[in-house]
Amino acid sequence: MENTIHKVTVGFTSQVFDKKTGECISQEFIAGDQVNYEDEYGEPIEGDNNLYFPLEMVQPEIVDPDIATGYLVSDWDCGITISIEATLNVKTWELVTKANSVDLDGLGCLERDFFAPDLKSQEKHSLDEEYELCPDCQEFLLRPVLIDTDKTNMVPSMECPNKSCQSNQ
Ligand SMILES: [Zn+2]
Repeated sequence: MENTIHKVTVGFTSQVFDKKTGECISQEFIAGDQVNYEDEYGEPIEGDNNLYFPLEMVQPEIVDPDIATGYLVSDWDCGITISIEATLNVKTWELVTKANSVDLDGLGCLERDFFAPDLKSQEKHSLDEEYELCPDCQEFLLRPVLIDTDKTNMVPSMECPNKSCQSNQ
């Protein structure tokens, strides 16, 4: 490219790996003192070149073994379906959505919302295709349980694992 200055920094990269899994956890470029400025043909450029851009490297994505990824899907009675990227902690059944808030005014009544894990997470965590979101706290997925009604009858029901949820008070 014409009209370019090539700043060449001599240094080294350092990558940190997990001993057990062999996974790369982080990496950085450690710049040395030697910096050369060259033109597009590799010819040195003389003079003061105070050009700076951080030498940050892309960090590997650390995958939490208890986190499933997918979508929070909301069905509205006006026929609109909204999907938001979400993650589920398969130990606690807590759901976290990526969007801070979605403006749902004027959409009418929510028919149901559920978490749909992506195919990779379905396989990895042996999950079904969808799970109902707790309508009370909207933070946890409902879990199937058997309720002992009169010591003889066990009735299947759904329970919110959130201890501070209204449905458990
Ligand atoms: Zn709840």
